[in-house]
Amino acid sequence: MSLFHPAVTTCPKCGTKAEVQRVGSVNADRRPDYREAILDGSFQAASCAKCGEKLRSPPHLTYLDVHRNSWIAVEPPNLIAQWEAAENEVFDVFDRGFGPSAPKAAQELGRFLRPRLVFGWAALREKLHCQDLGLDDTTLELLKMAIMRQVDAAPAADQTELRLVAGDEAALRLRWIEPETESALAELEVPRDVYDEIVEQADGWAPAREKFTGVLLVDVKRLLIGVPA
Ligand SMILES: [Zn+2]
Repeated sequence: MSLFHPAVTTCPKCGTKAEVQRVGSVNADRRPDYREAILDGSFQAASCAKCGEKLRSPPHLTYLDVHRNSWIAVEPPNLIAQWEAAENEVFDVFDRGFGPSAPKAAQELGRFLRPRLVFGWAALREKLHCQDLGLDDTTLELLKMAIMRQVDAAPAADQTELRLVAGDEAALRLRWIEPETESALAELEVPRDVYDEIVEQADGWAPAREKFTGVLLVDVKRLLIGVPA
C-alpha cells in the first residue's frame, strides 16, 4: 500500500500556503509510476499557485520494492547530523516489519530485502540509479572516497554531498549538491573503469568496505559527519 496524507507547506519565495500530498510509504511494486516520479523529481512536489515556485516537502517515508530486493527508510536531509540515532531507530522499524516478531510471510519477504537508510530525495534517487545501473551501492561509496581523496578542494562534508545522478556503460555522472535545496555546485564524470577497479581490487578496499557492512546508512557521510576536522 502507498499511503498519502495532505500537509500544508509555505512557499519559500512568496510565503503563500499550499497543500502538498505527503507520503508515508511507497510500494514501488504496485506503483512503478511513483518510482519514476521519484527519479524525475516530480514526486511529492507541487507548484506555488501564486508565484510558480517549486514546492517540495522533505521526505519521511519508507520505500518498498520487493522485485528489486529493496527496502529504504527515507528521512529529511537535515536529520543526517543525528544519523546514529536515526539508524538505530530504523533497525527497529525494519525488525518490527520483517524481523522475528513479524508475521511469517513478512519474515520470509524480509530475508530477501536489503534494508537501507537515506537522508533526502537526492540520496533516495541515488539508490534507485544504482539499481538501474546494476551498481553495488557500497562500491559507489568507496568510489566517492577515492574521488574525495583526489580532489583537493572537495566541498565541506556537512554542507554538501556527492550524489550519483546518471550513468551508462561508459561513465558515471556525479554531482556535488547542497542537500536541502539540491542545488548543484559542481559535476563530474567518472569512467566506469574506475568503479570496476574498486571491485577488482577487493583486498585493498576490504577495510573501507567493512565500514559499510551490516549498516543501514550506506553513505560516505557516516564517516565524515561527527568526525572532528
Ligand atoms: Zn510562491
